[in-house]
Amino acid sequence: MFRTTIAFSLLLVCSVAFAEAPGSPLAAFSADPELASIVKEIDAAHIAHTIQTLGSFHTRHTLSDTKDPARGIGAARNWIKAELESYAKDSGGRMKVEFDVFTAPKGRRIPEPTEVMNVVATLPGTDPKAATREFVVGGHYDSICGSQSDVTCEAPGSNDDASGTAVVLECARVLSKRSFPATIVFVAFVGEEQGLIGATHFAQEAKKANLNVTMLNNDIVGGNKGPAGAPPNDWVRVFSDGPPRKETPEEITARLAGGGEVDTPQRQLARYIEEVQGAYLPGFPARMIWRRDRFGRGGDHTPFSEQGFPAVRFCEAAEDFTRQHANVNETDGVKHGDLFEFVTPEYTANVARLNALTLANLASAPPPPENVRYGTERGKNNTLLSWQASPDNAAGYEVVWRDTTAPRWEHSEPAGSELKFKSDISKDNFFFGVRAVDAKGHRSIVVWPKPPARPAGAPPPEVPSNN
Ligand SMILES: [Zn+2]
Repeated sequence: MFRTTIAFSLLLVCSVAFAEAPGSPLAAFSADPELASIVKEIDAAHIAHTIQTLGSFHTRHTLSDTKDPARGIGAARNWIKAELESYAKDSGGRMKVEFDVFTAPKGRRIPEPTEVMNVVATLPGTDPKAATREFVVGGHYDSICGSQSDVTCEAPGSNDDASGTAVVLECARVLSKRSFPATIVFVAFVGEEQGLIGATHFAQEAKKANLNVTMLNNDIVGGNKGPAGAPPNDWVRVFSDGPPRKETPEEITARLAGGGEVDTPQRQLARYIEEVQGAYLPGFPARMIWRRDRFGRGGDHTPFSEQGFPAVRFCEAAEDFTRQHANVNETDGVKHGDLFEFVTPEYTANVARLNALTLANLASAPPPPENVRYGTERGKNNTLLSWQASPDNAAGYEVVWRDTTAPRWEHSEPAGSELKFKSDISKDNFFFGVRAVDAKGHRSIVVWPKPPARPAGAPPPEVPSNN
């Protein structure tokens, strides 16, 4: 009994010592009142109108009719462009609207090379330096029915993905009335159902032009009304990818040495979205899913993350796969197909709110600090971090950290305008990150610090030392 008591006391002491919070708790984002009004401006009735109008073109198959004024992808893209132009006019003409035209090469789902187009609206940043950063919000406007190759069947695509396109249009309508230091780009992508061809083209061109892009994809955000007993759609998933396939050997070595497998730019973006949601939309939880996408499915964020751009996918919490890519018909009084009556515009409005607030926060914030690194001091149980100044407009920096097995940042400390941070907390036991903050408290995305720089002349540590 005595021995048990001692053992229990020791256990208690140990667990208390371990659980002791290393530093102050994470400072939550506080809502900027100027941006918080976006919540009210996003209008579910307007979103409903967009989803219904897109369904009224009968099909938006990428290879469907381009000339008919009332039917097919040509009518749909003309309507989307005209709609964006009307928002641009309302906002004093600052937003530029255009077709991004290219030829889709012959492929598995494209029998002949075909001219296709994304619809793109650009709200240029007001600060010439900040404007080189582009925050892209996208959804795909093409649809299919139960047959991939049938270009005339009814394919309203209300959830997949008129809902995502409606998010893009609603963000454009509301955000184009405002101005931001950085650039926001609103894109309705073509050809998602033919192998992500519109998004792949856009991401490749952005890479060629050396653009600094961050991307939010919205695909199946309709708030499907499930059958009786189905789990409710009252939160949204944010899918984010692990390390990209195209990392250089140096990047892979640094990631392994620093334990950065779960700190990819995509996952920093996903964490950011959760923090925005906590501050502005407490009743509509966003939850990170650390996976590229759902099993067997893909989306337009992936061509972006493969180019090294931070990109995530918003997707409703509870999908009904039987309604996606389905023929519209009725059997025994039961309606089938991706119909407007199965989606919930108020749900899509909440997704649009979260997108718009994320874009507004990112486009208001200074760019993240550069070259964030751990110090070279070895063999010590402390942490030294250093970084180069954020290129623009940062009032200061904030250091965040968490247990190595925790998914979300747990602690933070302002670093003022210093370009370094020192702590007695061991870098070996926690993951750290650094972000820039402006005078109004808008934060940049967190940067994962690279492991210490190698001493000059030292060979690259291909195989980590066991010392
Ligand atoms: Zn889709």
